[in-house]
Amino acid sequence: MSLFGRRKTVFVDSDVLVVGGGMAGCGATYESRYWGRDLKIVCVEKANIERSGAVAQGLYAINCYMGMQWNENQPEDHVRYARNDLMGLVREDLGYDIARHVDSTVHKFDEWGLPMMKDPETGRYLREGKWQIMIHGESYKPIVAEAARKAATEVYNRVMVTHLLMDETKPNRVAGAVGFNVRTGDFYVFRSKAVIVAAGGASHIFKPRAVGEGMGRTWYAPWSSASAYALPIMVGAKMTQMENRIVLTRFKDGYGPVGAYFLHLKTYTENAYGDEYESKWYEQTKELVGDYIDRQPVPTCLRNHAFLEEMKAGRGPIRMVTKEAFQDPHKETVGWENFLGMTIGQAVVWASQNIDPKYINPELTTSEPYVMGSHATCSGAWASGPEDYAPADYQWGYNRMMTVDGLFGAGDTVGGTAHKFSSGSYTEGRIAAKAAVNYVNDLKNDRVQVSETQYQNLKEKIFQPLENYRIGRNEIVAGTVSPSYILPMHGLQRLEKIMDEYVGGISANYITNDPMLTRGLELLDMLKEDLSHLAAEDLHQLQRAWELHHRVLASESVTHHTKFRTETRWPGYYYRGDHPKLDDTDWHCFTLSQYDSESGDWTMEKAPVYHIVD
Ligand SMILES: Cc1cc2nc3c(=O)[nH]c(=O)nc-3n(C[C@H](O)[C@H](O)[C@H](O)COP(=O)(O)OP(=O)(O)OC[C@H]3O[C@@H](n4cnc5c(N)ncnc54)[C@H](O)[C@@H]3O)c2cc1C
Repeated sequence: MSLFGRRKTVFVDSDVLVVGGGMAGCGATYESRYWGRDLKIVCVEKANIERSGAVAQGLYAINCYMGMQWNENQPEDHVRYARNDLMGLVREDLGYDIARHVDSTVHKFDEWGLPMMKDPETGRYLREGKWQIMIHGESYKPIVAEAARKAATEVYNRVMVTHLLMDETKPNRVAGAVGFNVRTGDFYVFRSKAVIVAAGGASHIFKPRAVGEGMGRTWYAPWSSASAYALPIMVGAKMTQMENRIVLTRFKDGYGPVGAYFLHLKTYTENAYGDEYESKWYEQTKELVGDYIDRQPVPTCLRNHAFLEEMKAGRGPIRMVTKEAFQDPHKETVGWENFLGMTIGQAVVWASQNIDPKYINPELTTSEPYVMGSHATCSGAWASGPEDYAPADYQWGYNRMMTVDGLFGAGDTVGGTAHKFSSGSYTEGRIAAKAAVNYVNDLKNDRVQVSETQYQNLKEKIFQPLENYRIGRNEIVAGTVSPSYILPMHGLQRLEKIMDEYVGGISANYITNDPMLTRGLELLDMLKEDLSHLAAEDLHQLQRAWELHHRVLASESVTHHTKFRTETRWPGYYYRGDHPKLDDTDWHCFTLSQYDSESGDWTMEKAPVYHIVD
């Protein structure tokens, strides 16, 4: 019997299927139960929701909280803030929708036992900055996961979703997903009326600074493998702002967060000679972006820009001045705790490099680019907005439904709405779930249809790398290089090199141009051809193989978007060397792409940006 024939197939039918049990996925699972008491709610996760996603290690701050009960901020304020930080381009309807609901999410976390820091004088949540509140958040994810587990009909941990299923009777309607258990190798067919994709962002599409044995040390979680983008892209969902990759200024080598340092400890940066440098680049930046440099707070990308220019001028390294703040024992404790609840690796790196921030100002660096929709950038799917707030151009169905019927998204998956962070992603999961339940209820007895041919074809494709290995391995006496297959690690390194060199990664100083992007696309095409020769030694490598597929497709999307937008909208994130300036006349708009999986063609278009909040 063949490898495909003897493999067990597990069928799971549901009303709402949540793909990815991170912050947005847990929010979606929890809320689906609230609105759909009698519905079958299934959450499928490639790791274990207890400790999965970007919040796996915990967080030290919830970065999106309005504080409306104390009149600290209003949702409109947050829209203005995010719009400013993204150089004018955000989906204000989606951002407003999250901001008006996010406080209730945070209050739930508090109720469920997440230890929140309180201001001893006012009794309010302790602010780290205007939008951030401080938590003892090592157990943030288990707390959030517990509520999702109790709400779900079933949670399938250790099942990686590789493809979405499409309905055979209705064009452009999703019908579920398929994947495999990364421990048992069982094949899963999830048939569902609605699907919410909440599969996180994308690291490791650009070559990371840390390579070799240290390559897992990236800022964004190394297991964020672009499924959130590839799954919808494969079925023709429109994507937006995929060029808007993020580059972070972080502590060198451990990528420890700087937010608490800047905002709470009031530390600041200086160049190698002890000079303040940001103001030196003011005129030059103004030449590039006009009065966006005068906005307050200064957009994140422009602060990166000053950092990069100062480094290029030969006055690095840039350091965080911690020596002053760390003389205060309270601040010293907060400085260390900040890492222990969130990025322990940074404390370990400092220990290993003999850095005590009380006596040595630690170095900062800029990361390789990542793609995500929930942090300070907004790549992701083009989603329908809230009925009561979105302009007509942004509304074609249910809230957070993509351009494919029944397919919803939340968190890193959804584009156009930066600065949602953990609490906003969870909130968006809740919003998407409410809409998905309405969608399911409106379907009444209409069932999704999936033929055996559709899932059997996918089954064969999914497990092919195991077969490639079984056969190809015989041609090798020793070592890993085969004449007939490539391993996932080889493919990943090839992808990272292409993206790094041609699409604006670290070794190109984040610069690219049309000829480079064109060549990058040619090389990505060749890489894509070779993916049918991927080989997997075991189930773990099979997961790596499918993560690579997802990363490659998302990378292709990033490259097309970067080529389409002929301006440099976010200096500090990336530069178009052939179009070095911001161009508000032609490019104050969203970029949209759509992939045709039959032909492999991408279609690009512009969509208007509406400023709803004044
Ligand atoms: C280093 C770092 C620091 C941050 N700091 C803060 C902070 O201080 N405060 C704050 O509020 N926010 C912070 N954030 C942001 C916050 O973590 C994210 O906004 C949030 O986790 C996004 O939620 P999500 O559900 O979209 O993605 P995630 O939480 O990453 O969840 C995605 C889930 O999908 C699963 N998955 C992926 N692919 C598949 C697949 N193919 N099949 C099945 N499952 C899959 C993953 O395993 C994961 O569980 C930080 C993020 C990072 C990376």
